[in-house]
Amino acid sequence: MTRGSAAREGLWLDGREAAPARGRYSPVLNPATGRVIARVAEGDEADVGRAIAAAQRALEGPWSRLGPRERARGLFHLAALVRGRRDELARLETINTGKPIRDSRDEADGVADCFEYYAGAIGKYFGETIPVGKRGLDFTLREPVGACALIVPWNYPMMIASWKLAPALACGNTVVLKPASYTPLTALRLARWAGEAGIPAGVFNVVTGPGSTVGESLAAHPGVAKVSFTGSTEVGARISRAAAGTIKRVSLELGGKSPNIVFEDADLDRCVGMSAASVFSNTGQDCCARSRAIVHEKVLRRFLDRLVRRTRTYVIGDPLRPETELGPMISVQQRSKVIDYIGIGKKEGARLVCGGNVPKGSLARGAYLTPAVFSNVRMSMRVAREEIFGPVLCVFSFKTEKEAVRLANATEYGLSGSIWTRDVGRALRVARAVRSGVLSVNSSSSVHLEAPFGGAKRSGFGRELGMKAMDIYSEVKNVFISEE
Ligand code: NAP
Ligand code: MG
Repeated sequence: MTRGSAAREGLWLDGREAAPARGRYSPVLNPATGRVIARVAEGDEADVGRAIAAAQRALEGPWSRLGPRERARGLFHLAALVRGRRDELARLETINTGKPIRDSRDEADGVADCFEYYAGAIGKYFGETIPVGKRGLDFTLREPVGACALIVPWNYPMMIASWKLAPALACGNTVVLKPASYTPLTALRLARWAGEAGIPAGVFNVVTGPGSTVGESLAAHPGVAKVSFTGSTEVGARISRAAAGTIKRVSLELGGKSPNIVFEDADLDRCVGMSAASVFSNTGQDCCARSRAIVHEKVLRRFLDRLVRRTRTYVIGDPLRPETELGPMISVQQRSKVIDYIGIGKKEGARLVCGGNVPKGSLARGAYLTPAVFSNVRMSMRVAREEIFGPVLCVFSFKTEKEAVRLANATEYGLSGSIWTRDVGRALRVARAVRSGVLSVNSSSSVHLEAPFGGAKRSGFGRELGMKAMDIYSEVKNVFISEE
């Protein structure tokens, strides 16, 4: 591999870089500049076959049979490499995704934290002994599922990869990681570092290339025991279908249209800044984005005025500059989709209060878009129902708690959401009534490394993070020993 401004990167198979079977490479762009930063292998079904063969050979090798401390040592070592090279990894993520460098640094730290957490989890996750009707001893074992396919999106490439890699490897599985075509670079770097950390060859493979070939064939391949997917609801459904033929284990983290419910007694100072961040951070490309603000009519005017003021002051620009708060979107294609939605919202009669503009001047070459706020939105509108996956907030008003809950639940998604009130009883009632995998009260955070994360309804199933993630990457075996 040659380093430099447009390095060529192969697949990562069986502990080394490998050329793709058909010898094709695709350009990878920096969305802030439109420039090619790398050429990455365009894998196909044959490459998927090679990766799965390597992962299966490695299953028979030492990794899944290592004692818990030795496996933990590998993951701790990888965490230490990530921590030590945090700025290198963060820079790579930023030039590939356009996300502000300060966010990439936090995410690189998050990757290290994640490997450490699951390294520490290995020796704390075990079976049970169960009193059964027959005389003897009944106990359970936790065993690896097998070769796992991990398919990830482009919005938090390395972080979401680590949420899957760390527990999958901790449980003794081997993996084939398929990064999004827009953002393959940090995945390849992590695989290389895993080798340096002493994780055996074939345990962690990466196949880059299109979802329609590489992703689909991973989901269908009989050699894959489990697919863990994060991405759109539409592709999640395709993966479920492709996986059904071989009875694979499947877990899906999909889209969202999450509510941000603001009651009249909310602490507006705290609520406004966090409400803006919860929809506009990562330029709105966040599955947990609180893209529907549902605000009590008594505080609507004040909330909206302050929110718009905050929205107009975002520092948008070069993501490598430390002061930048919002970078470009992932691509001009993705931006066009969001601009189309803004047009649709206006036609449907929503009022665009601010944003939705393409900046000119020095930012014209990047996929930039200023954050947009719609008021006068009704749930019948497409902008209110469909996931826009960009920096667009829809604001609704309500009169009663019941109405707020009804609006919050008027979506086919159920990933995340926030409730802002000082009334504890109300917070609890509403938290119980909103159908969603994750909720926060007086906070906009959805993700805690130590706590389960995932969706209800069409936002998917299966829980990542925390100890719950160990369940989706292990198989339970029950053994009974007769005393007779
Ligand atoms: P996507 O199109 O579903 O892609 C996600 C991944 O699946 C990419 O690696 C993609 O590869 C691959 N893929 C595409 N078509 C496939 C197929 N037919 N079979 C197997 N794999 C396939 O989603 P995206 O556009 O990257 O991301 C945006 C969506 O992801 C949003 O809806 C968002 O809400 C959701 N998301 C959810 C979460 C969560 O945790 N719940 C997190 C982030 C994003 P290519 O890149 O090569 O197409
Ligand atoms: Mg896609």
